[in-house]
Amino acid sequence: MTRMQAPKGTFDILPDACAEYQHLEAVCASVLERAGYRRIATPVFEETGLFERGVGDSTDIVSKEMYTFEDGGGRSLTLRPEGTAPVCRAYVEHGMHKQQQPVRLYYTGPFFRHENPQAGRYRQFHQVGAEALGSDSPALDAEAIIILAELLEAFGCDGLTLRLSSLGSPGGRAAYRDELSAYLDARRDRLAPEVASRIATNPLRAFDSPDPSTRAVMREAPLLLDRIDADDTEHFSEVKSILDAVGVEYQVDPSLVRGLDYYSRTVFEFTSDLLGAQSGVGGGGRYDGLVELLGGPPTPGIGWASGVERMILAAGGAKSDNSEHAGALIIPGGESDQGMASRLARDLRGKGLPARVEVTGRSEKAALKHAAKIGATAVVSLGPMGASVRMMESGETTENLGLEEVKALLGRNGLGAG
Ligand code: AMP
Repeated sequence: MTRMQAPKGTFDILPDACAEYQHLEAVCASVLERAGYRRIATPVFEETGLFERGVGDSTDIVSKEMYTFEDGGGRSLTLRPEGTAPVCRAYVEHGMHKQQQPVRLYYTGPFFRHENPQAGRYRQFHQVGAEALGSDSPALDAEAIIILAELLEAFGCDGLTLRLSSLGSPGGRAAYRDELSAYLDARRDRLAPEVASRIATNPLRAFDSPDPSTRAVMREAPLLLDRIDADDTEHFSEVKSILDAVGVEYQVDPSLVRGLDYYSRTVFEFTSDLLGAQSGVGGGGRYDGLVELLGGPPTPGIGWASGVERMILAAGGAKSDNSEHAGALIIPGGESDQGMASRLARDLRGKGLPARVEVTGRSEKAALKHAAKIGATAVVSLGPMGASVRMMESGETTENLGLEEVKALLGRNGLGAG
């Protein structure tokens, strides 16, 4: 029989590595909840139309990276490739516009994109994301950026650069797109085929191209940041001045084009030079038209998403945690003591003490070796003369104890982390 493997682009998170994910979850919860963000969890799949509408047909995500399938009822469903559209859907569906604004939300979980796997790029990956809906204040843009910076710092990410730009408003962007399309069209023969084929649908993505000839063309290209209107310019200045006041360093990069269609005004991205080609750690932007596009009332919003695997890489890689926190290992004296051993283990766990039963019928000597290997803090041996307790670190042994005495003794000594 051929051996089964995890699907291409996916990976198992083994127990030693899970500690890192749990640690990141804890850091996220503390940084985000302290800032007033509340956790939301949306389904892992949604109606396909949500992403077609909310992310945009011309994006890479929608045009080629979605895991879309039909369920038994003939509905087209898609494994979520990103979190903003689902959160905005939930905001509309649950009438959150009636709550105090802005509504601050965050999420963590798996996301799915059919991309070519490479270091830092997977088909199932994890993101932490935050969305703040219901205000167009530049202070909220600055807050989103500051919080992501706080999170990356708290998690220990290094080598970070923050790039920042403004895409202006949809009207100005349309005019700019026409201008850029005309500019690209006139230089079509110098562009990479992929870029040339997207002049009409998504000319902005030309700025992302790694192709040298395309890059040379783009160096002279008109910049959106030079075309945004006075209100948008003022909004952007305010965002920058708040970041300056807080001391968050950034580079204004007019070529910053985020992959999603719905952004307006502020866009930003943190990269880390500890990562290879996939250097983006996390980023986001303002999406003032999105909620309305999904059938809700006109509602401005801003948010970001950060890749968990890339955050771990930028923090120096996963620190493996192989401590088992085995606590008490209870060795039944014989068949008839199995029930007593299980009851003692349950009672200890009920008191918050980690405990497990030796289940393989090892000899007492072999069980003691096993206890040392799994890092047990105490070994309890049951026998006809009562129980004996051996504290593994000190070697101190107390014999002839009743079960209540065992519980009291272990309760006093504690058994390490549970
Ligand atoms: P995006 O929604 O494309 O802006 O992605 C936000 C963040 O998610 C990126 O900066 C990455 O850290 C992470 N990310 C996106 N796609 C992938 C992927 N295929 N594999 C791993 N991480 C990803």
